[in-house]
Amino acid sequence: MTEQNRPEVLFLIHDVALAGEPHGIMQLAAYGKRKGWVSRVTTLKLDYLAEIEERPPQLIAASFMSADYPGFKKAFSAIKAAFPAIPMIGGGPHPTFDPDCVEQLALDAVCVGEGDQVFELLLERVEQGQGFAGLPNIRTKGNPHILEPLAHLDELPFIERDFFYEKFPIFARFKLKSFFTSRGCPYRCTYCFNASYNDMYKGMGKILRKRPVSDVINEVLALKAKYPLEYIRFADDVFQVKADAWLEEFAERFPKEVGIPFYCLMHANNVDEAVVSLLYKAGCRSACMSIESGDPELRKLMLKRNTSQQKIIDAFDLFNSYGINMYTNSMLGIPGAGFEQELASLDLSIRCKPKYGSFTIITPYPGTQFHDICVEQGVLPSDASDEMLQSTRETSVLTCFNEQEKQMQIKLLKLGPVTVRFPVIKPLTLFLVQKVPDNRLFSLVYWFFRNYLFSKYIVPVQFGTKEKVELIWRTLVEDFLQLKKS
Ligand code: SF4
Repeated sequence: MTEQNRPEVLFLIHDVALAGEPHGIMQLAAYGKRKGWVSRVTTLKLDYLAEIEERPPQLIAASFMSADYPGFKKAFSAIKAAFPAIPMIGGGPHPTFDPDCVEQLALDAVCVGEGDQVFELLLERVEQGQGFAGLPNIRTKGNPHILEPLAHLDELPFIERDFFYEKFPIFARFKLKSFFTSRGCPYRCTYCFNASYNDMYKGMGKILRKRPVSDVINEVLALKAKYPLEYIRFADDVFQVKADAWLEEFAERFPKEVGIPFYCLMHANNVDEAVVSLLYKAGCRSACMSIESGDPELRKLMLKRNTSQQKIIDAFDLFNSYGINMYTNSMLGIPGAGFEQELASLDLSIRCKPKYGSFTIITPYPGTQFHDICVEQGVLPSDASDEMLQSTRETSVLTCFNEQEKQMQIKLLKLGPVTVRFPVIKPLTLFLVQKVPDNRLFSLVYWFFRNYLFSKYIVPVQFGTKEKVELIWRTLVEDFLQLKKS
């Protein structure tokens, strides 16, 4: 079959951000490739209707989160009205936690949970001109779904990136690329989808699954042969939970066979000398380890992060002693947090000495326990729309804070990173946060230090002039749009 008459799937996503490549659709594209399908991608920010008109695909597959629900709802209606014959399916976090949404959306079906086992079956149905009812993990209008056990990661094809890089070449040129070595997280933080996800899949397979070391190495080498690659971001929720045989093999082989430094995410509870020394040996040169709140009570009761203050400090000290550049995040605006508790987060961040200490506003994403807690406590406005619950960099939507408190949180979010890096300015920061109204200069300071610290210490990759200009423009747009409501 020639490229021209191969069937096509058009993936529809909300937008692209340099912070991460859309692994979910790239994984599905790999299954499509195996079946002889061509993948394309577009976003809600582009003229997707014109793209469909110009080259109608055989299937449209959208991946969306709750925060993007309103935009996708409109898009599905517009697409269905213009192209009623093209089958359209939705997947990702929102349909997983609200599969009934298929009844309200102009979609033919939604995929609940992992789409690995079903995507090829789905393509076969399209080839045969049949509907999707009865397929595992698939809910169609009026037909419930049956959940399949979790996928075995050693059976996954390597993700397919070419179609995405062709559409968005800056990602191909960007010398940082992301990979996964695992799926799943054993923790149950209230503000995260993993707790609900783990409940949904309880008894249906191992939650925390690791790929064979050889697969990870071979995937990186294959990509390195094709695209520029200087630094790796392992995007696993928690890269490693202990110094086990997997980490020992990885630490032995990865530096010899790949030899590219990497960044990963860790949880302080899983950090000890054995883990950090193996990570360093493997090539870990930067890592993210969230504090989330400097107040132990809030951390434990509101967030279900059962990590002591001392454990957090010891974990950072250990990473710092190996010269691994640390990035941490703390969430402001947790119900029950007054100025004292917000300052505790700033102080703990300063004590932990990360190279980049960021701050966000906690967001009650629908489908998380934290959302339910906010509803129970009556701090979520009854008219809160999904659009209001979408950003961790906008003023809090919670009613337990007055306008002045919300403004202080957002000013701390903006001035926190520079203060954590240069603690000597803390008195000035406190003065500005308490006495000076929020303004564009704070946003500019935030934008500059966020991008400077991140690119200097956390993902230190080299850019050509063209990339630099494009990146500056993109980060400016992304940051200022995110901060638009503050
Ligand atoms: S450790 Fe991270 S990924 Fe895991 S549940 Fe908590 S927030 Fe989610």
